[in-house]
Amino acid sequence: MTAKAAMRKQFTLNPAALEQLFSVLESHDFQIVGPTIRNGTIQYDYIKGCKELPSGWTSEQERASCRLKRRKDDALFGYVPGADSLKRFLHPPELRLFRAERENGVFRILDNPAPAPKLAFVGVRSCELRALSILDRVLAEDRYPDAAYVAARRRIFIVAVNCTEPAPTCFCTSMGGGPEAGGGFDLLLTEIVSDNQHVFVAEAGTSEGSGVLAVLNPGEVTKEIMAALHEAMDRSKAAFKREVATEGLRELLYESFDHPQWDRVAAQCFLCANCTMVCPTCFCVTVEDSTDVPVRRAERWRKWDSCFTQNFSYIHGGSVRLSPKSRYRQWLTHKMAAWVDQFGTFGCVGCGRCITWCPAGIDVTEQIAALRGTAAPAASDGAG
Ligand code: SF4
Ligand code: SF4
Repeated sequence: MTAKAAMRKQFTLNPAALEQLFSVLESHDFQIVGPTIRNGTIQYDYIKGCKELPSGWTSEQERASCRLKRRKDDALFGYVPGADSLKRFLHPPELRLFRAERENGVFRILDNPAPAPKLAFVGVRSCELRALSILDRVLAEDRYPDAAYVAARRRIFIVAVNCTEPAPTCFCTSMGGGPEAGGGFDLLLTEIVSDNQHVFVAEAGTSEGSGVLAVLNPGEVTKEIMAALHEAMDRSKAAFKREVATEGLRELLYESFDHPQWDRVAAQCFLCANCTMVCPTCFCVTVEDSTDVPVRRAERWRKWDSCFTQNFSYIHGGSVRLSPKSRYRQWLTHKMAAWVDQFGTFGCVGCGRCITWCPAGIDVTEQIAALRGTAAPAASDGAG
């Protein structure tokens, strides 16, 4: 456990208390967003109670591959996160900015966006908390705060869960994180599940979290439970398979503009933009206006966009990044170099989603190793 975690008082909750947690959050007018099985995968959605959590299910993830699989136990959080993240709810894929109607030849704005709902996120992982702090830096704390994000962000409650079984695609430990959540949550749970016990170690990260935890009548943590917790986290830390060397990474990217690896990866890349859609920190958008045929009504929508599309780099006269090579290079150089200059951190938290959900099996850790010259160029063996 981190020193900070060691200072927080820990309690135990049984699975029944988790059901009560849902009721308490709902009584505070929160809509609950948590992991659930949808479309053959585990993803975040609005859920009503523990029965909608993926009890006894996990997802096996590798490059270009994610499969649901039955677990041998009834763990509620025994999986790694799916394709989407908190980004989908706080910085949604489509957002109507306004609508307008023409009256006597003049357009009048009809409404402002609806007020942000109160959302309680359950099952949030350490990498997602770090991604949220990166989005905060970009969308809430920079020169031009995004009003919709700021409004939504203010009204959330986070129940985080320590990762006890990272996927082979995860590399958060390389990016300054780890399977344990260091902060940024209201409540933190660690699930301990074995043949003879199913219990959650709970700790509060905020006064709101303390208030909710107190209502759940938590128990004391025994020495045995504490030992099981340490063992689970040690096992988790030892399970990481991928890593990225980050020392000098920013400089490496800037110095690699003409590296032949960009041609190799471009030969594999479909320009599908999946990697940017699933990335919990990619925030780029475009704006579209539409009208009806008599031009009586108009709407302005904001939609996710991606540096992998041709139109994204359109400036007067045409797009400046026509080749696949230039777009992949732009994405990786922004994530691992320019982001540091703009916002003071890498734009990557090592969640591994872009590896799992790239249909071409392109692995960002392999691309960086190839640029460093510390690994063979990425082979096209991956799509599995
Ligand atoms: S670049 Fe890939 S590994 Fe890094 S945060 Fe985005 S999706 Fe996760
Ligand atoms: S790197 Fe993979 S996910 Fe990203 S655009 Fe290329 S093929 Fe799609």
